[in-house]
Amino acid sequence: MSVPFTRTLRFKVRPESYAWLNAAAIEVNGVFNYCNQISLATATRTDRKRKWLSDYDLCNLTAGATEYLQRIGADTIQRICVEYAQKRVAARRLKLRWRVSRGARRSLGWIPFKAASLKRKGTALRFCGKTFRVFERERLEGVSWKQGCFAQDAVGDWWLCLPVEESIEQTAAPKESVGVDLGLKDAAVTSDGERLEALRFYRDAQHRIGALQRRRHVRQAKRMHRRIRWRRQDVCHQFSRKMVNTYQKIVVGDVSSLKLAKTRMAKSVLDSGWGTLKRFLQYKGECAGRTVQVVNERNTSRSCSSCGALSGPRGLRQLAVRRWECAHCGESHDRDVNAARNILTAGSRCGTSVSGNEPLACRACSEPDISSARRRTLGGR
Ligand SMILES: [Zn+2]
Repeated sequence: MSVPFTRTLRFKVRPESYAWLNAAAIEVNGVFNYCNQISLATATRTDRKRKWLSDYDLCNLTAGATEYLQRIGADTIQRICVEYAQKRVAARRLKLRWRVSRGARRSLGWIPFKAASLKRKGTALRFCGKTFRVFERERLEGVSWKQGCFAQDAVGDWWLCLPVEESIEQTAAPKESVGVDLGLKDAAVTSDGERLEALRFYRDAQHRIGALQRRRHVRQAKRMHRRIRWRRQDVCHQFSRKMVNTYQKIVVGDVSSLKLAKTRMAKSVLDSGWGTLKRFLQYKGECAGRTVQVVNERNTSRSCSSCGALSGPRGLRQLAVRRWECAHCGESHDRDVNAARNILTAGSRCGTSVSGNEPLACRACSEPDISSARRRTLGGR
């Protein structure tokens, strides 16, 4: 069975176009802020004309704005209106944060467009009367896009992002199920005893980043941050791909990297890439027809995976205990593998809801995964 699946291709834009894109991004910010202001003003009127503006209203209100703008066209303005309306509904706010064009706190550039306004021209691309060149343009061959955007990253480089539809052949995996324990000593340990070493890309580079920042080499420091992110993503991609290719059912604990990022372990937690790894496992599992399940992690490192007695190390104080012996049945355990096995058991215990292409919510034992459900309702965003 093959299923349609949207993935986003990213192309780095050649630097000669940066000046134009930067200027166009300021116009985009202007349109966005206009939408923000008019939506707030209309929603807070005290007379009977008070209204929550929809994307359709916003498109009407901004019609003809191209006359005052030099770079972006009508289709970009419409895309901004639609995106604005969607974001505002999702955020449930009267107004969103303003897009800032200048200064230290400026927003990262963003220029959306519809399919028709980005055209191929020989080896280059044509957008709004301007020719663009991208790196690795051979990847563009045979690709058809519906819409897309130019987006800027923190370093200041511009990327062309094109979501494209692909169909993926779904096959059965050779092995049945696995539990994955996310941790700090090892980034991930599976119930079969496989380990993903702790990622320390940031830890290893932080003194160099610090030195760069003290010397006010801001751009270089940002470049380094980006490189670290890419390396972490690369490792997570490899590990999640391996899991998805090997196992039909993947169970992960519900550790929240966002919650732990507020504690003293923040740096290690964020550096270990739990969030990234979970995200990758979820979307890859989804389009390969796997079951990815999130279960409550409570007591998974404490209870013995053979007899179920709560005889293991507990709490922060005994975090250093890596191996232990069950006082009840005498079985000797590796802390993380034992936890992964418990997670796997917890996954099969509440095997109620989840099949590959449904939202990842197990009502019995964990919070529903809102992010993936929301992504689906917004059409793959
Ligand atoms: Zn035991």
